[in-house]
Amino acid sequence: MARRPGSDADVPHTTDDGAPVVVRRSARRRRTVAAFWEDGSAVIAIPASFTKSQEREWVRRMLAKLKKQGERQTGSGRRRPATDQALAKHAEHLSQTYLGGRAVPSSVRWVSNQNSRWGSATPADGTIRLSNKLQRMPQWVIDYVLVHELAHLLVAGHNAQFWKLVEAYPETQRAKAFLEGVAFATSRGIPTEPDPEGHGDSAADIAD
Ligand SMILES: [Zn+2]
Repeated sequence: MARRPGSDADVPHTTDDGAPVVVRRSARRRRTVAAFWEDGSAVIAIPASFTKSQEREWVRRMLAKLKKQGERQTGSGRRRPATDQALAKHAEHLSQTYLGGRAVPSSVRWVSNQNSRWGSATPADGTIRLSNKLQRMPQWVIDYVLVHELAHLLVAGHNAQFWKLVEAYPETQRAKAFLEGVAFATSRGIPTEPDPEGHGDSAADIAD
């Protein structure tokens, strides 16, 4: 999301990576400030008594801290088995919930080399890959891509039967629109995520 010129004094609405920033004021909080990730949003919890300028100061400070933490965790691009494991477990849950447990992937992993696709599935060997660009998006968008790829293990093409399966997931239309928005912004050079190819793939192209 681009910031309006001259609005630098505002509390940032997104992180440098484009994830939404949620400021939560709490009457119970006196002096402590906390920052954490929740469903793809950076949540900054501050005391209700903070002034607007204290809020601005602390949101900036905590966003910088979150960013540093993220860099430490993902530093040098090493693979994180725990994360892939968690992803596989979550995919199993989504398959159970929306596809009657019929889609059983052999592996589900995060990959960093998918420049123009959010995800891909290979029905022949049951593998699913998700672009790590999705990691900063809301969980309901990630879930849509997962359900989409899981459904490809049952139906290879984008036919009516395929979409019937995917639409069991209630956020399908909203997530497709969200990803189209991201692709649009990227193709117009509106800063979101780096995309070397720079083409505006529609959500329908997210998988094989
Ligand atoms: Zn697809």
